[in-house]
Amino acid sequence: MAADTERAQHPCFSGDARHKFGRVHLPVAGKCNIRCNYCNRKYDCAAESRPGVTSAVLSPAQAVAYLEDVLARRPDISVAGIAGPGDPFATPQETIATLRLVRAAFPDLLLCVATNGLRIGPYLDTLAALAVGYVTVTVNAVDAAVGARLYGWVRDGAEVLPGPKAADLLANRQLEAISGLKARDVTVKVNVIVVPGVNDDHVGAVAQAVAERGADMMNCMPLYPVADTPFADLPQPSPELIAEVRAEARRFLPTMEHCTRCRADAVGMLGEPMTAEASGKLSDYAALPLDAGDTRPYVAVASREGALVNQHLGEAAHVLIYGQADGAPRLCEMRPTPAPGTGVSRWLELAATLHDCRALLVSRAGEAPMEVLTREGIAVRETCGVIVDSVSAIYAGRPLPGPAAPRASCSGDGCSESGDGCLGAGNGCG
Ligand code: SF4
Ligand code: SF4
Repeated sequence: MAADTERAQHPCFSGDARHKFGRVHLPVAGKCNIRCNYCNRKYDCAAESRPGVTSAVLSPAQAVAYLEDVLARRPDISVAGIAGPGDPFATPQETIATLRLVRAAFPDLLLCVATNGLRIGPYLDTLAALAVGYVTVTVNAVDAAVGARLYGWVRDGAEVLPGPKAADLLANRQLEAISGLKARDVTVKVNVIVVPGVNDDHVGAVAQAVAERGADMMNCMPLYPVADTPFADLPQPSPELIAEVRAEARRFLPTMEHCTRCRADAVGMLGEPMTAEASGKLSDYAALPLDAGDTRPYVAVASREGALVNQHLGEAAHVLIYGQADGAPRLCEMRPTPAPGTGVSRWLELAATLHDCRALLVSRAGEAPMEVLTREGIAVRETCGVIVDSVSAIYAGRPLPGPAAPRASCSGDGCSESGDGCLGAGNGCG
């Protein structure tokens, strides 16, 4: 667990610290991999304070530039957190890249992440190496039947699971994540969204299960019914119900009593309203080049014929290495990719081969190479389109011009979005 002196500076983990220290959320996690029935990330209003709401989603480089600005103006801020607007590990490349940049620029800043826990597992060592000292995992149920009423679906890689199967997988991953975080000495808070008539009589079971895995604290958050969600018409839990539920949770571990249901772009002291000025700052940084800080000279591309980004990474026997000459992309060389069949070593070797590349453009990449390359600091971008246009966009820090290729195996069961990197329809992280 983080040293007491450190915890005394985290406004969420210490009741006293909230009067002295602030936090800033870096909204770099734009997508989600599950659908919570209370969550809607589609609305932005500076006056609205709830998880999932942000005025802009930033790239890692934009986020660190924004953070520099915030910290110069707000010396009372002790923590930088990533809490949405989606889940940080639905887009792990952005999350890990942001944490790396922030840690390099601000070695003493407390780092914090809030997640649904589904896909954090492969990144536990990386988080520990980056001294991410605080993680919040939202666990709403540890029983599949209860969870099936809370979640529409869970997407694990290319597979989309509905109902009890989804809830079962999610609960198991969440409990494993808590154990894994505690094994790495990370301070863990568990959020539970209290939904009357659905999980309000189940919070004790959640508290017991997470306490057994070593969780440090629990935050019982009242449901905030949001329009266009399955729970839009449910009542908010009464203060009396929340008090009862917290008392039940306290039988197993301490509870947080001062949660202010922060936005994904919250900045300042807990409860400090989002001002038009703060929202404007965020928009200013969102307009900066995406990767302004990356000085690696090359961009790698997987292509079948050398004109389009159109090859799956697993099929590429070589990648094209583009540089820049007179401001235009220029093909410099071809580099062979490591032979298949060596598991993770193949991707570690590829990361070493591409050490001087700021991005790898592919039509699609599997989960294993995505995770390994991301951990090794290579940004893998899935896209399709003309190579020179895509490479130019990377150098200019613009969004890629081509769409991501459709992921045929995503059934999108219960999914209200496209199914490809679908935006879940709501929120309660943080
Ligand atoms: Fe994803 Fe929203 Fe659930 Fe958070 S609350 S895990 S953003 S669906
Ligand atoms: Fe971390 Fe959540 Fe507090 Fe933000 S609100 S600093 S993510 S615990």
